[in-house]
Amino acid sequence: MELLGKTALITGSTSGIGYSIASKLAAKGADIFLNSFTDTPGDRRLATDLSQKHSVSAKYISADLRIASQARSLVTQTKHIDILVNNAGIQHVSSIEALPLEKWDDMIAIMLSAVFHTTAIALPMMRKAKWGRIINISSAHGLVASPQKAAYVAAKHGVIGLTKVAALETAEEPITVNAVCPGFTETPLLEKQIPTLMKQYSMTKKELIDNILMERQPSKKFVTSEQISGLVQFLCSKDADQITGSAISIDGGWTAL
Ligand code: NAD
Repeated sequence: MELLGKTALITGSTSGIGYSIASKLAAKGADIFLNSFTDTPGDRRLATDLSQKHSVSAKYISADLRIASQARSLVTQTKHIDILVNNAGIQHVSSIEALPLEKWDDMIAIMLSAVFHTTAIALPMMRKAKWGRIINISSAHGLVASPQKAAYVAAKHGVIGLTKVAALETAEEPITVNAVCPGFTETPLLEKQIPTLMKQYSMTKKELIDNILMERQPSKKFVTSEQISGLVQFLCSKDADQITGSAISIDGGWTAL
């Protein structure tokens, strides 16, 4: 229960990697704030489930991270957090010239600007408590590019730059700021891309996974949400006190290629 007494906010945590991170931190004793923009009874039920399963406080806060004021107010509403995991993300697969302007704006807002907003509000809370962890879920696409993913790749590269600046601004304080860069992980975000990619490559789902996705990932295996949350948990531990400003790959060798 190494996180007993700590409070964590995980953005975009009603699904996939975010919910797995919330569950892992709750299992280690952290109180949890879940977030998404959907605000359904199911979202609130996820918080109740976490609270009952791990005997921690778990609350859901709705905030649409496309909107700067909502990203800032999300953190303000918590009153205090020790751990901020910027995880919310979306994807849209298209060439640069076909990418709708509003998709570009939404993706940059959710995966880059919102990270700036939540960090700006959370840092004074962490300084006051004299401890803090900020973990930004970037991607292998924060380190290398793929075609058809302009906004995603730009936002994920950008968030690594922001991570480094925040790490330098807090380097002498007991606060660390790191980015985690996963490879392909089976979640709704990836599932939604499959039909477009199947059409683009004229392949079945299995052919697409074997020949295109796993072509990028030398281990030939998906990363699991559980493995990513294990890395996040490690970054919250005392052993990780001197890890700051890093972009840590968890991608089956993708970025070693
Ligand atoms: P997911 O679709 O399962 O979850 C995304 C979460 O973000 C959901 O809770 C959703 O409600 C939330 N969200 C979306 N738009 C939002 C908005 N406007 N405001 C607030 N919340 C919003 O996706 P996932 O695969 O678990 O992705 C989580 C993170 O991991 C993302 O940043 C993604 O880019 C990153 N990532 C995923 C993969 C992968 O292969 N799945 C690989 C590398 C990085």
